[in-house]
Amino acid sequence: MARYGGIDLGGTKIQAVVVDEAHEVLGSSRLPTPTTGGPADVTLAMIESINVALEDAGVARSDLAAVGVGSPGVVDDAAGTVTSARNLPDWEGTYPLGEKLGAAFDAPIALSNDVNVATQAEFALGAAKPFRSLLGVFWGTGVGGGVILDGELWEGRGGAGEIGHMVVKSDGRTCPCGRVGCMEAYAGRGAMETRAREKVADGEKTILFDIMEERGKPRLSSGIWQRALEKDDDMAHHMIDRAVGAIGVAVASSLNLLDVEAVVIGGGLGLRLGDPYVEKIRDAMMPHLFADHHPPEVLLASLGDLGGAIGATLIAVDKAPAHA
Ligand SMILES: [Zn+2]
Repeated sequence: MARYGGIDLGGTKIQAVVVDEAHEVLGSSRLPTPTTGGPADVTLAMIESINVALEDAGVARSDLAAVGVGSPGVVDDAAGTVTSARNLPDWEGTYPLGEKLGAAFDAPIALSNDVNVATQAEFALGAAKPFRSLLGVFWGTGVGGGVILDGELWEGRGGAGEIGHMVVKSDGRTCPCGRVGCMEAYAGRGAMETRAREKVADGEKTILFDIMEERGKPRLSSGIWQRALEKDDDMAHHMIDRAVGAIGVAVASSLNLLDVEAVVIGGGLGLRLGDPYVEKIRDAMMPHLFADHHPPEVLLASLGDLGGAIGATLIAVDKAPAHA
C-alpha cells in the first residue's frame, strides 16, 4: 500500500498529512512557519512537519511513495523551484525546494500553487465532488481563487484564478498588490486590519484590538474577527459586511463569465465564519448574477483546515514511481 505525504505551506503555519491510496488521512501535524531565517529554515520545518505526521500515522518514512507541496509564490514544478514567496521569511529569490525535500525523503516531490491544490482537493474529495466545474474562493489574509472547468484545473498562462484582484470599484481603495479597487482591498484580512487601524487612528471605537491584546496575538486573526462579531462590535460588523459585499460582487462577475456549477468558500476566515457567512456571500452575489434564474451552488469547503495538505497529496500521486 502506497502512502503519500502532503504539505500546505502557509505564511503562519505549515500543515502536513500522511494519507493512504484513497487519500484518507492517517496522520497530520501543524507547525508554526519560521518567521526568521530563510528558505532553508522553512524547508527544515517542512521536513519536520512530515516527520511528525508520519509518527502520528504510524507510517515509516520509507513507505512514502511521493510528497506533494502546496506553496505560495511562483511555483515551477518541472524545475522544482519556488520563487518570490513573499509571505515567507527572506524568500524573494528562487529556491530549489523540490531537490531539498527529495533528498530528505528519498521520494519524488510534486510542487504546485497552494490555492490550486486546495481547489483540487475540494473538487476531488470535498464539497464540490458532485460537480464538473468549480470556482474555489479562499478567504484569508488575502483572497485566493481557483478555477476548474470540465474537470480540469484552469491555470491560464499561470496567472488565472486571481479572484481577489478582480476590480469591484474602479477608483476604490489601494490593494496590498498596489493596484486600486481590488476585491482583496475590502475583503482580505490583511487589508481589513490596515483599514481597522486607520479607523482607530481617526477616533473610531472597536474591541478588535482589545481582543488581540488579550489573546497575545500579533495580528487580527480570523478567531478575533469572529469574537468581535459575536460581541456585536460595530466596526467588525461593518467591515465584514463590506468584505462579504465585495466577495459577492467578484463571485457574481466570475460566474457571469464562467457559469460554473459550484462555488466553494474556504480559507481561514471563510472556514471560521462558516455557513451563515456563505449564505451572506450568496445573498450579496445574487443581485449581480446575470443568469439569476439558475444560480450555482454556493458551499462551505468541507475538508476544513487540512484541505490544502490533502490537495497536495493529490498532485503527489502523479509523481509516484508506479505512475512515472
Ligand atoms: Zn489587488
